[in-house]
Amino acid sequence: MKVYADNAATTRVSDTAFNAMLPYFKEQYGNPSSLYTIGQKAQEALYSARETMAKYLNCDIKEITFTSGGSEADNQAILTGAYLGEKKGKKHIISSAFEHHAVLHTLKKLESQGFEITLLPVHSDGFVRVDELEAAIRPDTALVTIMYANNEIGTVQPIAEIGRVCREKGVLFHTDAVQAAGHIKIDVKAENIDMLSLSAHKFHGPKGIGMLYAKKGINLYTLIEGGAQERGKRAGTENVPAIMGMAAAFKEANENIDKNFDYVKSLRDKLAQGLSKIPHSKINGDISKCLAGTLNMCFEGIEGESLLLLLDDRGISASSGSACTSGSLDPSHVLLALGLPHEVAHGSLRISLSEYNTEEEVAHILKNVPEVVAYLRSMSPVWKDLEEGKKQYVIQ
Ligand SMILES: *Cc1c(COP(=O)(O)O)cnc(C)c1O
Repeated sequence: MKVYADNAATTRVSDTAFNAMLPYFKEQYGNPSSLYTIGQKAQEALYSARETMAKYLNCDIKEITFTSGGSEADNQAILTGAYLGEKKGKKHIISSAFEHHAVLHTLKKLESQGFEITLLPVHSDGFVRVDELEAAIRPDTALVTIMYANNEIGTVQPIAEIGRVCREKGVLFHTDAVQAAGHIKIDVKAENIDMLSLSAHKFHGPKGIGMLYAKKGINLYTLIEGGAQERGKRAGTENVPAIMGMAAAFKEANENIDKNFDYVKSLRDKLAQGLSKIPHSKINGDISKCLAGTLNMCFEGIEGESLLLLLDDRGISASSGSACTSGSLDPSHVLLALGLPHEVAHGSLRISLSEYNTEEEVAHILKNVPEVVAYLRSMSPVWKDLEEGKKQYVIQ
């Protein structure tokens, strides 16, 4: 049996999204900037895609800029907030310790340009605290950027409250909503969000396409210079098929959002309950305030990488953290931010489900993970020391 359980890394393109893309490869392949009919047809298609995205985010179509994905949108939003602030002498930015690297590495770049970065701590439950954010805001704070939902542990941050505080203090607020979009309802107006990034391949759309919402009046910094596409804020001929696929996937996801949430959560809760029976294991982050499909666990005494490879042999695709850090032997910065010690953070497993997963697949995971964990422990010198009392268990 093959089980794809890494939907936080990417998702299968839905049939609806796939079919929505097809006409734009070989029939309606015109350049949206061309004035003749097939160009204008493509322009109209783009307009309708923008309307769809705007409808489900509750924003205006002029507030949408299509990008090559979540990373580009994050880069553009953060550099925009930073450079707009700099013009007013504000060079302080607040973020959190468990952001995606698209955010953290952009902040590092800004630090080398003389910006001061405050990373809010993440508590062991997987959340930042709004009072700590409020206390960190200074007169020279240009931007707050806090992710909507974390990609490794799934915790959904108090975005509306953060938005309210930022609005009261007159600070720009960006959220990386790549994990949340299409999975939980987002209303940029009600939540006082100034800028928001999303990416189609995390909600059954194609890869390499995303968008940045920026509230009217925010003059975006351009990463890519050239033609006048996207109101001059993002040059390059629009990826029309991908944009159409993203809009179709976003519509489908939002129309089914409650149904999918309940179904995926029921599968995830079953998994959480079953896998928690493994001795000296622990769920990371409070799953009661979490995306429906994400489950991140640590198993003491084993290496996450070995666990993944053995699960792959049994047909299960899961992750030990984010795809971006796999391949490196460092433990996940997200788990370390939660305060887990290195040796425990190494033994992590992220299972992320979607509405395409089934009860049978969950049963397959529930059978195999305990077997593989037991097998790895039987060979682990660390586990031997723990069992013999030479070392203390961190997870009781
Ligand atoms: C996947 C992801 C990104 C990057 O999006 P891409 O479209 O792959 O560039 C950024 N932030 C979060 C939280 C993600 O999960």
